[in-house]
Amino acid sequence: MENILDTPIEYLKGVGPVRAAVLNKYAGISNFNDLLNYFPFRYLDKSNVYKIKDIVSDSVNIQLLGVITNIYEAGEGHSKRLIAELQDDTGTIELVWFKGLKWLKSSLKTGYEYFVFGKPVLFRGKFNIPHPEMELSTSREEKQIKLKFQPVYSTTEGLTRKGLDSKGIMKLQYELLTRVLPEIHEILPLSMLKILQFPERAEAYRQIHFPTDIGILEKARERFKFEEFFFQQFELLSYRRNRELKVKGYVFSEVGNLFKTFFHEVLPFQLTEAQKRVIREIRNDMKSGKQMNRLLQGDVGSGKTIVALLCMLIAADNGFQSALMAPTEILAQQHFKTVSKLLSGLSVRVALITGSTSRKEKTMIIKGVEAGEITILIGTHALIEDDVRFRNLGFAVIDEQHKFGVAQRAKMWLKSEIPPHVLIMTATPIPRTLAMTFYGDLDTSVIDELPPGRKNIITRHVYDNSREQVYDFIRKKILEGRQVYIVFPLIEESEKLDLKNLMDGYEQLKSYFPEPHYRLGIVHGRMKTEVKDREMEKFVNGTTHILVSTTVIEVGVDVPNATVMVIESAEKFGLSQLHQLRGRVGRGSEQSFCILMSSVKLTHEARKRLETMTATTDGFKIAEVDLELRGPGELTGTQQSGVLNFRIASLATDQAILQTARKLAKHLIDADPLLTLPEHIPLKKYLSLLWKNKFYWGKIS
Ligand code: ADP
Ligand code: MG
Repeated sequence: MENILDTPIEYLKGVGPVRAAVLNKYAGISNFNDLLNYFPFRYLDKSNVYKIKDIVSDSVNIQLLGVITNIYEAGEGHSKRLIAELQDDTGTIELVWFKGLKWLKSSLKTGYEYFVFGKPVLFRGKFNIPHPEMELSTSREEKQIKLKFQPVYSTTEGLTRKGLDSKGIMKLQYELLTRVLPEIHEILPLSMLKILQFPERAEAYRQIHFPTDIGILEKARERFKFEEFFFQQFELLSYRRNRELKVKGYVFSEVGNLFKTFFHEVLPFQLTEAQKRVIREIRNDMKSGKQMNRLLQGDVGSGKTIVALLCMLIAADNGFQSALMAPTEILAQQHFKTVSKLLSGLSVRVALITGSTSRKEKTMIIKGVEAGEITILIGTHALIEDDVRFRNLGFAVIDEQHKFGVAQRAKMWLKSEIPPHVLIMTATPIPRTLAMTFYGDLDTSVIDELPPGRKNIITRHVYDNSREQVYDFIRKKILEGRQVYIVFPLIEESEKLDLKNLMDGYEQLKSYFPEPHYRLGIVHGRMKTEVKDREMEKFVNGTTHILVSTTVIEVGVDVPNATVMVIESAEKFGLSQLHQLRGRVGRGSEQSFCILMSSVKLTHEARKRLETMTATTDGFKIAEVDLELRGPGELTGTQQSGVLNFRIASLATDQAILQTARKLAKHLIDADPLLTLPEHIPLKKYLSLLWKNKFYWGKIS
């Protein structure tokens, strides 16, 4: 890797300084290695020529051979297009272009025979091919590169202008491969290659750019996906191993009186089997002598808080303090209330610290925490600020919505010599693949069961123009004694505008639901905490019928008598947000409803989101769709960090490969963690270069 592949791209034959600059700018390619790993996103199958009459509705990209019999323009303005009629001995099909009409009109010729590549689509009962690629049949013989499958590379206008359209890039790749293939050596152990039936590295590069056989191409693609996952898993697991070796954990040897008293005398319900299992898993970690780093997944309402609380009592029984960190102020307050209430009969002091805690109070709390008088500290980010020093923090719970990568998590608790046990609770479920990568250094526990007696929430998607019916429904429910949430979106571009949206909506609602018959409350993020609290309290105790709000109520809030959740402009919300919001109802014994209001005009994605919401209440399924629609970066809020930037692998579709990669990485770590065996030397060399800037790699190599 340090040799020829590091060569600046400028020095490849056919590139030079001008093209090097655009390659760098538009494709991030600065050296041979970058180009080598710039893979085609599809291939044109030139080995088969379809007949026009054989086109069926699920045809993928196909090749036709025919004569252009007619070329003409049609439509006006937006729908202006160029149509060419192509004929072979079985029929005729229309080729359609919406862009580049001028150039095409002058270059395509009637009466000539063309190879045509594209994907047929059905339009008004007839097939046509939009934006096909065209090649004069006579030109094929003249080409130096004769291919069965032609690679197609993504390109941009900036590249195309310098002759680097897909074919231009293909020529560079051809040149590059000729030069570098002899220098590319295997890095994976041979035994692994054999198990996985992967082509060797050089052959895999050749096949992925210039396939000779679809079967081998598939294996080559799989190999590169595997590599990406495998290196990452090896890294995560090395990191974990290193942590386990170097970092000691507090031993909580006993389950004492606090836990037992709470469990037998206070706990207002039976734990579900899943909750019990998870507590056992945590319990085992806590007494193992290793520091726990565990991810707790569970759907909205599955009862993660009580699990955390019970474990905090174990810590207290062993003389240790606990911290519970929540993503928002409202949620921190809610946790504080719940926990204080549940623990009121026990001798455990609980305190709350957030951004709006007064200075005086804060000083007192900090003192209490430092002296060890406060056993459980609940709060927002404020509780990990520098001035908060625990006497003996033994257990930290992160009720998560802020997403931490591996490195941040590591930094977070470096304060004490022996770090506390850490439990991270996800706000909504995340797909397995994401758990394995983003949280891949953690152990996981899953609460896969809801407390008994939960009613399914009925979800409907309603267009704005049926608003009156929705309001009638709300009136009926209020008459029955129920309460209602109405949520407005946060559009983020302008807080002022959002507030205006919300206030306008609120005023309008007041005219539909006039006092004194109906009582409305409102909460939003820009309110003073006391005002917000007062409004929340009025809703909690049933004084107000309708709570109008922004997404500040998204997480945590628990009002069992509220059975209707109306989400305005639901198309503007992400799936996990919608799922969280819906989770605010369905908490009591009454049937609950979630009504998603939207305008009639919806993007494809928005429609898919709303459809998913009406189709299922399973948070894990919803998370899978979310991953498919938004990608991992958006889901974790870490687009910038690069943790999840896979070049070819996809967390949405390559789950099986990821699982294999994790399994083999684990085997390797168990067998030869430092990669000292001769058969692992090439891999070790490769990884050292790949990770030369990673802070923890140094520790293991
Ligand atoms: P989440 O997992 O979304 O954080 P919570 O911890 O807020 O869920 O729990 C949701 C509600 O379910 C709370 O009111 C809690 O008291 C209740 N709950 C938790 N576990 C059980 C159980 N085993 N049986 C009945 N109710 C439970
Ligand atoms: Mg919760």
